[in-house]
Amino acid sequence: MNLTNFRFETDADGIATLIWDMPGRSMNVITPEVMAELNQVIDHVVASEAIKGCVITSGKEAFSGGADLTMLQGLRDLYVGLAREKGEAAAMQTFFDESRKLSLLYRKLETCGKPFAAAIHGVCLGGAFELALACQYRVASDDASTRVGLPEIKVGLFPGAGGTQRVSRLMQTGDALQMMFKGEQIKALPARNSGLVHAAVPRDQMLQNAREWLKANPQAKAPWDDPKFKLPSNKVYSPAGMQIWPPANAIYRRETNDNYPAARAILSAVYEGLQLPIDLGLRVESRYFAKILRTKEAASMIRTLFVSMQELNKGARRPADVPASRLKKVGVVGAGFMGAGIAYVTAQAGLDVILIDRDIEAAEKGKAYSHKLVSDQIMKGRAKTADRDALLGRITASADYGDLKGCDLVIEAVFEDPKVKAEVIAKVEAVVGPRTIFGSNTSTLPITGLAEHSQRPKNFIGVHFFSPVEKMLLVEIIMAKKTGKKALAMALDFVRAIRKTPIVVNDTRGFYANRCVGNYIREGHLMLMEGVPPAMIEAAGKQAGMPVGPLSLNDEVAVDLAYKVLKATKAQLGENAVDPAQERLLTEMVETHGRLGRKNKKGFYDYPEAGPKRLWPGLAELTKNRLDPELIDMQDLKERLLVTQALEAARTYEEGVVTDPREADVGSIIGFGFAPYSGGTLSYIDNMGAAVFVKLCEKLARTHGERFKPNRQLKRMAKTGESYYGSAEKKAAA
Ligand code: NAD
Repeated sequence: MNLTNFRFETDADGIATLIWDMPGRSMNVITPEVMAELNQVIDHVVASEAIKGCVITSGKEAFSGGADLTMLQGLRDLYVGLAREKGEAAAMQTFFDESRKLSLLYRKLETCGKPFAAAIHGVCLGGAFELALACQYRVASDDASTRVGLPEIKVGLFPGAGGTQRVSRLMQTGDALQMMFKGEQIKALPARNSGLVHAAVPRDQMLQNAREWLKANPQAKAPWDDPKFKLPSNKVYSPAGMQIWPPANAIYRRETNDNYPAARAILSAVYEGLQLPIDLGLRVESRYFAKILRTKEAASMIRTLFVSMQELNKGARRPADVPASRLKKVGVVGAGFMGAGIAYVTAQAGLDVILIDRDIEAAEKGKAYSHKLVSDQIMKGRAKTADRDALLGRITASADYGDLKGCDLVIEAVFEDPKVKAEVIAKVEAVVGPRTIFGSNTSTLPITGLAEHSQRPKNFIGVHFFSPVEKMLLVEIIMAKKTGKKALAMALDFVRAIRKTPIVVNDTRGFYANRCVGNYIREGHLMLMEGVPPAMIEAAGKQAGMPVGPLSLNDEVAVDLAYKVLKATKAQLGENAVDPAQERLLTEMVETHGRLGRKNKKGFYDYPEAGPKRLWPGLAELTKNRLDPELIDMQDLKERLLVTQALEAARTYEEGVVTDPREADVGSIIGFGFAPYSGGTLSYIDNMGAAVFVKLCEKLARTHGERFKPNRQLKRMAKTGESYYGSAEKKAAA
């Protein structure tokens, strides 16, 4: 055999071991070459009389992350090309045949007549777990890093190489659907308990365990290839099935609002497949897979959440001519809510942190936040006491600015007050050297203005985190007028070190993310003042694909913060820059009723000690207007909530705040949860086309006000047929 991605050896008992170990890659992935080699191996195992069975394992620290998504993107392009040349029907046939090759290969392995086993250590996901599912036996290491699962849904895809059929024949239907809907990654022990793997053993016993099993089961078949096979949840059309399917439909709707064609396809493929023998079930799955692969949702999600995100993480925006910085020590000034979180993620990345506040008690309080976070991890079995000691050992709480000496980077997260910030900038610069980069975590003050207080404006940059810092993946890097490329490189190296995703934006009020999400919240406020029932506003947000409704979101970020921002905007830009209805609402909420949000348990919602939050009944008194819910067009509400954000993104793009559509899209999904199925704010516009979007904006402007008026660049794009990604590609090529 001619293998480059695998090693193959056979022992004296006739048990072969296939070690997947792709050269030059840190992680194994499924590529056309891997598929061709696997095919050779199956033929070889079948043809060699001496071989009784074969264990598949990995030569790396993980089994495999699954299919190479760029390969799937390539398949999609193939379809578009073929459809142009040979017509839709011929293109669809080729596309179907191509997209089911992996499924057929796995079925060939499963039915070749000799048994295969998978020995899994580390992650084994997507197409790789589907390979394991086609093996008659699966053993996983009980290591904490071992995880199996089918996370395809997270990029708008669905398991198309047998996953939907095999998992639903191994587990209770409800559990199988849940696992695929959520894209859950399951640890070894729960995987064994639910029947996804047969055994969970220490890593050093894994191969032996698989070999013993193969020796003892030379005739093994998949359970579904046994004529006596019974489905774990009984037949679809049975009393048991009737307990499952009607609620499954309801849960699907509740979880996805029907926004994700891939989730619907999972439901259909399992429902139809379980009524058929396995080969036909696999064929049904392939049909859905071919369909899903061609959806704009899959294309957009793969592009944004996989390709673009990877490019940004790898430093797409980093100035290539600045050598990599070796960050060792980072200063954080202001140990409040944000500073404490920044200190935690920095220490977690193995960097030393000096955490400064006005007095040592405040600094220690900030450090205690890290103690709490790691302790929670310990409780959940995800960290050890030694990890906590090591992490806390890296954080020095202090009230002495002198301790910042030697820091490569200092980030301030003090009060949002230009005077306090100016003082801190001066104090920091008095002790650090000329190479230290200064980052501000301000969320509303223009960085260029703050940089005026700096003696070294070249070293001054915005490093804007989102809350809660330990959970949110996005960091906005803001370039002030005089920010130099060394500062940019250092900021990006830092973001990479703490394993977050950066977008680089130019300086403007609200930067990028908060401008868009601020519009979402404002639209919710305005709807409320028009008399739309609050529950409908919240439902419209979720149905549009946002993680939470605009009123919930405002409660999370604080109602008084929205009020402060509104007042500051008015002070700087004048009366007309704010909406009077929103101003009235926020003034009443904050000043009259002291409703500040979740932080004081009183916002748009009440937060009772016992039981879930519920909308504050007093909202009815505040708004006065009442619209008849029967006459409110839900589609209109959903459009308003998404369009207002996408339009703001379009404006930031025209203004040069965001300069790359990939950053606008990635930032919108991981920064504020913009309807992920759309691929992000600018993909949302590109997918419907600028002309349609402009028409939609104009319609909304007529009924709801000037704020929906499309910007000039969009109107031009509507005329020329340009798209954001099309123009960006042209620019890159030129
Ligand atoms: P916070 O009030 O919780 O914390 C501010 C901390 O700074 C306090 O501990 C205070 O004692 C300390 N401080 C004040 N003056 C100081 C000084 N001269 N020297 C040292 N320490 C000083 O505020 P926060 O919510 O953490 O916000 C901090 C910054 O982060 C602000 O600029 C804010 O705009 C920005 N930000 C906040 C959020 C958010 O969701 N809260 C999100 C992104 C950015």
